[in-house]
This record gives sequence, C-alpha cells and structure tokens, in this order.
Amino acid sequence: MTAPLHPDTVAVHSGRSDLQGLGVHALPIDLSTTNPLPDIERGGESYEAMATGGRPPADGSMVYARLWNPTVARFEEALAELEHAEASVAFASGMAAMTAVILAHGAAAGKRHVVAVRPLYGGTDHLLGSGLLGVETTYCEPDEVASSIRPDTGLVVVETPANPTLDIADIAAVVAQAGGVPVVVDNTFATPVLQNPIDLGAAMSLHSATKYLGGHGDVIAGVVACSEQTAEALRRVRAVTGGLLHPLGAYLLHRGLTTLPVRMRAQQESARRIVQWLIDRPEVAEVWYPGLRSKGSYPGLDGDQHGILERQMRGTGAMIAMRMRGGFAAASAVTSATELFTHAVSLGGVDSLIQHPAALTHRPVPPEARPAADVLRLSIGLENADDLIADLARAFAALPADETAGAAPEELHAVR
Ligand SMILES: *Cc1c(COP(=O)(O)O)cnc(C)c1O
Repeated sequence: MTAPLHPDTVAVHSGRSDLQGLGVHALPIDLSTTNPLPDIERGGESYEAMATGGRPPADGSMVYARLWNPTVARFEEALAELEHAEASVAFASGMAAMTAVILAHGAAAGKRHVVAVRPLYGGTDHLLGSGLLGVETTYCEPDEVASSIRPDTGLVVVETPANPTLDIADIAAVVAQAGGVPVVVDNTFATPVLQNPIDLGAAMSLHSATKYLGGHGDVIAGVVACSEQTAEALRRVRAVTGGLLHPLGAYLLHRGLTTLPVRMRAQQESARRIVQWLIDRPEVAEVWYPGLRSKGSYPGLDGDQHGILERQMRGTGAMIAMRMRGGFAAASAVTSATELFTHAVSLGGVDSLIQHPAALTHRPVPPEARPAADVLRLSIGLENADDLIADLARAFAALPADETAGAAPEELHAVR
C-alpha cells in the first residue's frame, strides 16, 4: 500500500496483520500464565531477554505471562500505530502506567526530580507529591518548566487537555523548555484521534485506557506509547513490579479501538452542542472547554489566543467543566438531580457521567491546587444531545431560587 492509511482505517486494522495467516478473523485471546520452554538454555535466554525489557526471541519462549503476553502485545502494537510511536507498553491501570514512567525515569535513570505542570488528574498529582516513588516534584505553570528543571530532573509531566479544568498546555513549547529531559503527556482526554504528542516532540504519550480507549466502562488499564528504547525500560519495570494488564482487558481495549474515532467524533459533536447551550444558562457562571475559558461566544476559540489548539489538536473532545453560579449547593443539587447523566467518577465511556472534582477525583490534591467547590465535570457519551440537554435543564430547574445559599464543606474549600 502506498498512501498512509487514515486513522479510522488504522483503528480497525492495526495489530491484526498475522490473523489471515492464523486463519482467524476475530482477535485471538491467549490466557496462558506459563509457556512451554524449548530447552533450559533457550528458556533461560528468553527469560533474560524479557526481564530486561526485550521481546521474546524468535526461537525462544514467552516463558511467563508477567514477561510477555501475545494478546497484550497485539493491543500495544495497535495503540503504538495510532499514536505514531515505535512501541507501546500496557499496564494494569493508568496509575500503574504513570508509576512505571516515574520509576523508569527516576531512580532507575539516576535521577530524583520531576517537574509537573498543573493541573493534573488528582491521582497523578497525589502520586507525584506522595514521595512513595522516591522522587521530589516541582509543580509549575506551563511557562515555568524551563526554570524548574534541575540537573537531577529525569522527567517532565504534563496533561493536556487537563483533568478537570480542560486547561490546554502547548506541548511543543513544554518540550522545548524541557531541554532534552523526557516529557510524558497524559493524552487521556484527547486520545490519539485528536492529538499525537509524539509528533510534537514528547517522549511518551500516556493514557488511562480505562477512559476513551476502552470506552465502555468495563476495563481498567493504562498504556504508554513511546520509542522502542523507552518501551524496554518500561517493560523492565512492568516485568519486575508486576503491574500487568490482563489479556481479557487487552482484548476489550483492542476491540474498543476499532470504534474509537467514530465514538470520539459523535461524543464531541454532542459536547459542542451542550457547551453552546450551557453558555447561555443563568445557572452556569463559566464553561470550560478547549478554546473556551468563560461564557464568551463559541465557537470563537477565545481561549486559543496563541493558536495552540490549532497546532496540536484535531478537535476539542467530549469533556466539559462548568462553574455553577450557586456554588457548592447548586453543584451538589445538580449531581443528585440528573437522570441520564450518572453521578459517577471516570469518563470517556458511551454513557454520560457527571461528577464533582473537588470532592472526588481531585480530593487528594492540596487545597491550593484543587478545583473550586462550584466546579462540575461532565463526560459526554453517545446519547442523543437533545436528551442530555433536557436532562441538564430538568436538573437546573430543580435548583432552589436563591441558589447562592449553602457553603461547601470545609475540606472542599480551595483558593482557585
Ligand atoms: C483516570 C485518569 C488517570 C488514572 O487512570 P486509572 O486508569 O484510573 O488508573 C490518569 N490520568 C487521567 C487524565 C485520568 O483521567
């Protein structure tokens, strides 16, 4: 084939080139935990190759599923192709993936400092600040990356669009400021359909595959797309620490990839309609969406003064955040009143979710960086947009007339 394939085609066909030869059409699942060894010598060589991050030798064995699983490897091949990367490495969760990235670029690389651009997913913010992984973290704004780098900095972490505020960071500018220090971009919100961080110079594109890649709320997983060299370091951490993705999860993710571009487009279209509706609602103080930081006109990309969106994204996605004029009381009432939007954490699935970041997903974030108590996050699914708008309208109509009453619980107060 001559012309490069379009992402929609790659999503359907990647990781399947050997199926015809195998005489099968659907993705095979290999659940073996152990594998026959040809002989002690080749078994031992295979073990050695994979325990240090390599692939199983052609005449060897996969030895043990903590070292290699072909169903997981298939999904990794497919995701790497979608992310324009040489390789990818899958993990038991997004947090297991982030842990492996930090371990591989921290002590294992002779470094002990990480620079992290805020805002970040609450779990990532917490992990980096916890000291659990033996690294010290400097949190900063996107334009403070260069001044935060030290001789012992091994990694720069950035999330864009960020969870939950939909802040956009300029990936190429962060990479330039990092000055050779590897940058990992959490690409969970954009997915490879809308953004390819590796093309912009990032060393790694990380996903909580639990979200859009799986897309159906039934798999917890993480994955990191990167160079083959970085993949070796990450596979080594995975083999040694055991944060594995189960092959059934890998199968579901690989299957989910086939509809990812279609889901993203449909969910994004509904999200844009809902944003348009929200900015005219008196109950809503601000709407945050890529390109929009207030109640300004939309789509005016008034939040894209520097043309970042146009340079690095092919769309604005299906996540929305909003500040309720009635503060915490109104936010709390809305989460209890919606019927189609399930009040639940997580995101990126076929059904719509609503949640309160300060109380839930961003609870472990220190108060100075925690989202305010009036912020709600919406994940728009595949339901009809009119039905979702009607659901929100019903929930807003149930708000008390004097909706400014009711303060947030003490622990939810934040400076932002
Ligand atoms: C959910 C999430 C994570 C963590 O992923 P898990 O699969 O829950 O471990 C990391 N980053 C972002 C942006 C997320 O939304």
